[in-house]
Amino acid sequence: ATPTAVMVGIGNGARRGILFRNAAALETAGRLSLVVLDKTGTLTEGRPELVGVIAGSRSEHEVVALAAAVEAGSEHPLARALLAAAQARSLSLPASHGFLALPGQGVLAEVEGVGQVKVGEPAWIGVALPEAAQAWTRQGCTVVAVAIAGELAGLMAIADKLKPSSRAAVAGLQALGIRVVMLTGDNQDTAAAIAREAGIREFKGEVKPKNKAAEIEAYKKTGLKVGMVGDGVNDAPALAVADASFAMGAGSDVAIEAADVTLMHGDLLHLLDAIRLSRATLAKIR
Ligand code: ADP
Ligand code: MG
Repeated sequence: ATPTAVMVGIGNGARRGILFRNAAALETAGRLSLVVLDKTGTLTEGRPELVGVIAGSRSEHEVVALAAAVEAGSEHPLARALLAAAQARSLSLPASHGFLALPGQGVLAEVEGVGQVKVGEPAWIGVALPEAAQAWTRQGCTVVAVAIAGELAGLMAIADKLKPSSRAAVAGLQALGIRVVMLTGDNQDTAAAIAREAGIREFKGEVKPKNKAAEIEAYKKTGLKVGMVGDGVNDAPALAVADASFAMGAGSDVAIEAADVTLMHGDLLHLLDAIRLSRATLAKIR
């Protein structure tokens, strides 16, 4: 039978928007020694905005319109930022077909009258960042390249602000003696800037979605009890292998389905609350 203390703990969580899937989820959350945080949508708002364009072989407007034409087929937060930017500039988008997404790298499609257009990670597109774009990454922006038939058309800077409570939540976890690690598919310099802003000392950038799960397996092998917090479709494999997984409430249904705990308000301070609640409950049933 489930001890009353666990039922009370689950009820107390639910009242604050912390949904534990079951008793085991509540108990495991109290035993975590390391927490892995996804960057986009977990530490940051997940509402990226286009903040800069460097035109290459095409004008700024053309770069944005081409990018948006390709991203029309994507669900990625970066796609939403580019579509919103095109709309804000009242650009008309050329027709495209043959959309293909490469998770953690970018997207491509055939754009009418233009040819194959790729939008994504500069390294995937095969371009080295000029100094101006490197400065963007050092400020925590994600740099996305647009290429036409393999030739660079332009670069764009996309910014996603840290959530106001992220820094306090990280400090709170560390004060509980929990190791905090950030994993992101984003570029190393971008990852470093966001980690610094959040007060996170350990981080890895350029981690492909399937490798997030492998990183967690590796931590588990060293004997650590690992929690994972994510919001995206890409995070589901990592959430599945963690000892305790947390989904941000505003995130994708796939993440929520994979998670042991859902943080309804999408606020990392509730992760701290969840762990404190679990520890208090464990103390009562011991
Ligand atoms: P995160 O771990 O921050 O959620 P992802 O693994 O989804 O990031 O993506 C990693 C990188 O791949 C992005 O920073 C971007 O450079 C590129 N990328 C992925 N999807 C897209 C897309 N739809 N449009 C442009 N770039 C993309
Ligand atoms: Mg993400």
